[in-house]
Amino acid sequence: VPQASLTFPEGHSVKSLDFPVGLFINNEFVAGEGGKTIEVKAPSTGKTIAHVAEGSANDVDRAVEAAQKAYDTVWGERCPGHQRGKLLMKLADLFDEHNQQLASIEALDNGKAYSIASGFDVSSAAACLRYYGGWADKEHGKVVEVDDSKLAITKHEPIGVVGQIIPWNFPLLMFAWKLGPALATGNCIVMKTAETTPLSAFYACQLIAKVFPPGVVNILTGYGNVVGAAISSHMKILKVAFTGSTLVGRQIMKAASQSNLKPVTLELGGKSPNVIFDDADIEQAVSWGAFGLYFNAGQCCCAGSRIFVQETIYDEFLEKLTAKVKSIKVGDPFAADSFQGPATSQLQFDRISAHIQSGKDEGATVHLGGNRHGTEGYFIEPTIFTDVQPTMKIAQEEIFGPVVVVQKFKDEEDLIARANDTVYGLAAAVFSRDISRCLRIANKLQAGTVWINNWKLLSLHNQLNTQMPFGGFKQSGIGRELGEYALKNYTAVKAIHINISQPNP
Ligand code: NAD
Repeated sequence: VPQASLTFPEGHSVKSLDFPVGLFINNEFVAGEGGKTIEVKAPSTGKTIAHVAEGSANDVDRAVEAAQKAYDTVWGERCPGHQRGKLLMKLADLFDEHNQQLASIEALDNGKAYSIASGFDVSSAAACLRYYGGWADKEHGKVVEVDDSKLAITKHEPIGVVGQIIPWNFPLLMFAWKLGPALATGNCIVMKTAETTPLSAFYACQLIAKVFPPGVVNILTGYGNVVGAAISSHMKILKVAFTGSTLVGRQIMKAASQSNLKPVTLELGGKSPNVIFDDADIEQAVSWGAFGLYFNAGQCCCAGSRIFVQETIYDEFLEKLTAKVKSIKVGDPFAADSFQGPATSQLQFDRISAHIQSGKDEGATVHLGGNRHGTEGYFIEPTIFTDVQPTMKIAQEEIFGPVVVVQKFKDEEDLIARANDTVYGLAAAVFSRDISRCLRIANKLQAGTVWINNWKLLSLHNQLNTQMPFGGFKQSGIGRELGEYALKNYTAVKAIHINISQPNP
């Protein structure tokens, strides 16, 4: 079974970590079929840090078998909700206890700043597990009034073995968003982590093995077109949840429809508008605007990548935004003052660079940045484009990097048409001191989340609004994660009709 031996920079609180990075099936780490491995690199240096087991379609079968056995014997309705909740809360506590280790792995493997990995990613992951632990004995059916001949009740049952496929931008947080609601409602899991950032999940599997019975949670890594495709087309996986690109979301839906018609939930891309009216608190709008885009090096599905500024304050806003963005510290994830790390992989670096080039080629102005940062790793300068036409690629396509396009608008009517002019509908923000206007705009924006006078569902003070649903309109997805809404993704409703009009024999 492959092992990871990670070492961290001098002076960092965690010196080194050794842990197994085999496929996690039935609470054991095992080698992938044929002993194949995948090379994992640190994006801040481009150097290899581990080789992890590579899963295959047969490995997915093994994981499904383990999950089905656990579901039939120890989990599902065999394990009462309050017990499932207790276990989720235990795992949440272990995430908190291992915060430094998990955050160190995340900083090394994904490239995000250690302080953010610790204060946001890991602590929010723990908070998410704890929140769903609380739901585990509270998600139940109803007695429905029909007529006096019947007692009619509904039950919210687990679906069974569910498949989950997660991306690389928030490896541990997406892991928790998927585990929480599925386990709370009594399902067994076969999950695929992203092949570029599998390490924090493997470390977390050691914690899972301490808490859950074998087979309840099974974690594989491997390539999307192999393991991801095997999960989405598996006849015994009865539901699939995916976070990633719209392109792959389509493939998953197709695989689901061509196999067993498993229900699909998708959390996909975005090109979210951030709207600044001339009566906004400009300092606040600038600060949230910069955070909303450059947080996580722009690798957020809800990044505020299109800033629309009312023309009367355009120059002032742009000047202040530029100063703010210039102050962003780009660099080593383990340096205490770093905010923006590298792109997470060479592939992502190349994609972002190609988008920047297309902006240049189509005639937009590079107002700030636009180049590689430094000579090592996959860092990109925080970039601002101006003189952008709505039809340009940089105004329409998800860049998923530290690149924002700033455009002027005239009035509300002009704004709404342009803000909604993309295939996406994940998030949006409005800044204005006129709350009626904010609400009017919020009602007209095609977005699953609208932030008014703030950006994002998080702050760095350990708070993620796990209670609030998150998901997209249009091609940004199907279904909602987080909050009570996510429980619906993992339950099947059964209607039971009991005849009470005559004595039951
Ligand atoms: P992706 O959609 O290819 O990868 C996400 C996950 O899906 C990974 O685990 C991957 O292995 C898996 N996958 C890939 N092909 C699959 C298939 N055919 N069947 C099943 N699973 C498959 O994303 P990417 O290529 O890593 O990034 C491309 C773009 O996706 C980014 O530039 C960004 O725009 C977007 N993205 C969005 C999110 C998000 O949070 N919504 C996250 C990551 C990437």
